Amino acid sequence: MSTNGGMLEGKKGVIFGVANDRSIAWAIAKELADQGASLAFSYQGTTLAKRVTPLAEQVGSPLLLECDVTDEASLDAAGEKIRDTMGSIDFFVHSIAFANRDCLKGHYYVTPRADFLQAMEISVFSLLAITQRLAPIMNDGGSILTLSYYGAVKAVPNYNVMGVAKAALESSVRYMANDLGPRGIRVNGISAGALRTLASAAIPKLGDMLEANAERAPLKRQLDHEDVGRAGLYLLSHLASGVTGEIHYVDCGYSTKGF
Ligand code: NAD
Repeated sequence: MSTNGGMLEGKKGVIFGVANDRSIAWAIAKELADQGASLAFSYQGTTLAKRVTPLAEQVGSPLLLECDVTDEASLDAAGEKIRDTMGSIDFFVHSIAFANRDCLKGHYYVTPRADFLQAMEISVFSLLAITQRLAPIMNDGGSILTLSYYGAVKAVPNYNVMGVAKAALESSVRYMANDLGPRGIRVNGISAGALRTLASAAIPKLGDMLEANAERAPLKRQLDHEDVGRAGLYLLSHLASGVTGEIHYVDCGYSTKGF
């Protein structure tokens, strides 16, 4: 898939969070591969392997590995395998989140302790856990990208504990940008509008939400995966060389101007 003379020719990175061809991580990966990047893919659990393997092959991936971000040994093994296979890397994409489906409806304040901690661990701490393993092999001038949602800054019905996790994730982006800035490593997030994916299937009445968003948004249309993929390419490439610690809204203008 790579093209000669692409913007990311000679660059190497890791994509965390492809579950299938509807994953936002895959939309970003396709744009990066189109520009010549060499991409390793990390997936969660063997059941996803059969979906991710053909996608990784499609872009000539040199490495496909399993990593559960709740498991320290799995994270360590992934870090080692990435170092041994890729040597150094220029970027990674963190496109991972999880909350118990029961918490994505009704009141937020009733969230049980275990569900709260699980959402924070998988959706926020995982960014730190991966960075702890990969920052040492990142080339100076590298870039890190994560995915957030508007529910981080406004109380969006049903988003509940995931909104609180996204608020912590967005704050983590700012602190990590400060930590890694002296090495020229940039850390940014995309706050994507709602898209149909495996994860968003847990959100009740998603279809209604997508239609309402499109009516209110300045661009008067639903967001598509490619919109987010291209923004990912921008933030991970030299085009965004002066951009760090930012949460970049990609939602057809819905959350920023559409009310
Ligand atoms: P997705 O289901 O395709 O991706 C979520 C990924 O998280 C999956 O690959 C899953 O395997 C991974 N994951 C969950 N628990 C994990 C664990 N313990 N270890 C390793 N990986 C784990 O859905 P998506 O919508 O593409 O989600 C990607 C990111 O985009 C998430 O952070 C999500 O919150 C964010 N996001 C999604 C939307 C949307 O509407 N779909 C909007 C804004 C932001």
